[in-house]
Amino acid sequence: MSNIGFVGLGIMGGPMCRNLRKAGHRLVVYDIVPALVERVTGDGVSPAGTAREAAERSEIVITMLPDGPEVEQAILGPAGVLEGARPGSTIVDMSSISPLVAQKVGAAATAKGVRFLDAPVSGGEPKAVDGTLAIMVGGETKVFEEMEPVLKSMGSSVTLTGPVGAGNVTKLANQIIVACNIAAMGEALVLASRAGLDPDVVFNAIKGGLAGSTVLNAKAPMVISRNFKAGFRIRLHQKDLRNALLAAESMKVALPLTSTVQQMLMALMNQGKGDLDHSAIVTFIEEMAGIEVKPPAQASA
Ligand code: NAD
Repeated sequence: MSNIGFVGLGIMGGPMCRNLRKAGHRLVVYDIVPALVERVTGDGVSPAGTAREAAERSEIVITMLPDGPEVEQAILGPAGVLEGARPGSTIVDMSSISPLVAQKVGAAATAKGVRFLDAPVSGGEPKAVDGTLAIMVGGETKVFEEMEPVLKSMGSSVTLTGPVGAGNVTKLANQIIVACNIAAMGEALVLASRAGLDPDVVFNAIKGGLAGSTVLNAKAPMVISRNFKAGFRIRLHQKDLRNALLAAESMKVALPLTSTVQQMLMALMNQGKGDLDHSAIVTFIEEMAGIEVKPPAQASA
């Protein structure tokens, strides 16, 4: 059992801490929001006043933060993890960030003799609670093998995908496929609705064929029932696609579909829809068509 520092106790970090504790690890936790620290503090979970203190009192530090700037601040910044981490200790950043930032933070850690993995997750809050996240890891095999049991207490699938940065490239690949699928589904259902068809009938007719997918099965019913309560928020998906485009630009790769969907997500955020589920991408396409995806009797235009 290890002493684990955990920085970032939000929607994902809070339940991930609880699963680490259940697995018997002792935790030292920190978040810039004191109420979140108080919420997870208890038996075997003690508070730290800074990310540096969480690192000083641990041999492993896990970070679960919104995006690259917060990761840089919490790890590289003043009173950050690297100020407190001892040589030979390990930082595992589980935030979804640009692979370029993961590599920068990894290099800074290595320069201090601290080991680093990037290990973003897929699955959202319910899987964070259940401890069944899919975890995509980048880093050295030896470090991965040592950290695997710790990661397995938070996830049911833990995969080493390559060197530092590879975890986030894999996560971005996942996010590109999901976003483009949702946008394509939105266009298809808008077309079917404009043609006077019942979108539920169309969905059921195609879901068993080549167009069928986990995304279609999860998101088409949400669109048809007009339930856009987040699962995965538009604002987070916009951030992920922006990171994908930044990484692609650095490698001189054109991602025209990703770029278009990222612009749709940004427009939706400007319409106050940033906290809706990403299935609400359909509303962007609906506005352009002047129609809502609904059964024919209820169709508005
Ligand atoms: P969140 O905003 O709920 O939590 C992030 C936490 O980090 C907040 O509590 C915030 O106060 C804290 N924080 C910010 N800057 C800090 C700093 N400098 N030092 C210490 N704490 C700081 O976000 P979340 O939903 O838990 O997501 C975390 C990461 O996981 C993101 O990168 C997100 O893209 C990814 N992710 C989220 C989901 C999801 O469904 N929510 C699913 C998969 C992946």
